[in-house]
Amino acid sequence: MPGLLDMILGYDCNLWCDYCTIGPALRGRALSTAHALASLREGRAQGLDALSITGGEPTIRPDLLAIVRAGRALGFADIKVQSNGLMYAHGDNLARLLAAGATRLHVSVHTHRADRYEELVRRTGTYAAMVGGLERAVASGAPLVVDLIVKRDTMADLPAAIEWLAGHGVRAVDLWYVSLTDANADNVASLPRMTEALPFIAEALARGRARAMTLRSLHVPRCLLGQDHPHAWDPGADRVVVVTPEATFALKDSRLAGRVKVPACTGCPFEQVCPGVRPDYLAAFGDGEIAATRGRPPSRGPTRLPIAR
Ligand code: SF4
Repeated sequence: MPGLLDMILGYDCNLWCDYCTIGPALRGRALSTAHALASLREGRAQGLDALSITGGEPTIRPDLLAIVRAGRALGFADIKVQSNGLMYAHGDNLARLLAAGATRLHVSVHTHRADRYEELVRRTGTYAAMVGGLERAVASGAPLVVDLIVKRDTMADLPAAIEWLAGHGVRAVDLWYVSLTDANADNVASLPRMTEALPFIAEALARGRARAMTLRSLHVPRCLLGQDHPHAWDPGADRVVVVTPEATFALKDSRLAGRVKVPACTGCPFEQVCPGVRPDYLAAFGDGEIAATRGRPPSRGPTRLPIAR
């Protein structure tokens, strides 16, 4: 059966974003080259036909090109590389990656603002490289998706970010809702209520549609997106096998996809396709917003203290 092999090569990165879920202890963990190549072979044997290579930051791996070439030789028809794009600004890195067989680029921009980017990624002197890498990715003509993070201090910038990206020739954007997991678990201040963020998300989606861009929203339930529900996207809906330095597992069976249905979900027209609400979000805010949009009473309030780091 076709599907996606989602390979986390390792957790090391040349940035340290202020909402990153990867803590210092994880940074040193990585797949060996031999483990990565064996996982490629196993994935193809299982019929997987698409490959996603991510991290951490995969472009800092010296064996990235060899792994991409191996994926191509084994017959993966679609090979995506998820990156912060910084390395694409230098030399012929991007050209060599595409020549090796990468067919799709995802670039995490985080925020488009020159006055906020380096504070968010916690590394000075990187904004120009991000913009340069993004411009090269656009110029390459390879299919490209830009990732933006929706968090308390970026949400108001989303509409302007879409305009900025459109001006740079980007045609597709994914909006990722920040999560309070792992190393970001106590950063409660980063997580806005969805009803606070939704006006900005809605405006961003509208501006994207006006420019014939493809925009997807991750982790905001369809009931809250309202008329924008066609933008909802759940990566776990397809067959995805995840390979990490620790384990190999089906995404649908993992805690990454393990979201929660609440009483107000009963009878919802999206009940069969919606994966539910993230547990970290329910713990922070309860289900009052979902209940309200469904015309039901809330069934649970927040279960954690709002401790900001
Ligand atoms: S199933 Fe629940 S969380 Fe999902 S869209 Fe419906 S009411 Fe919202």
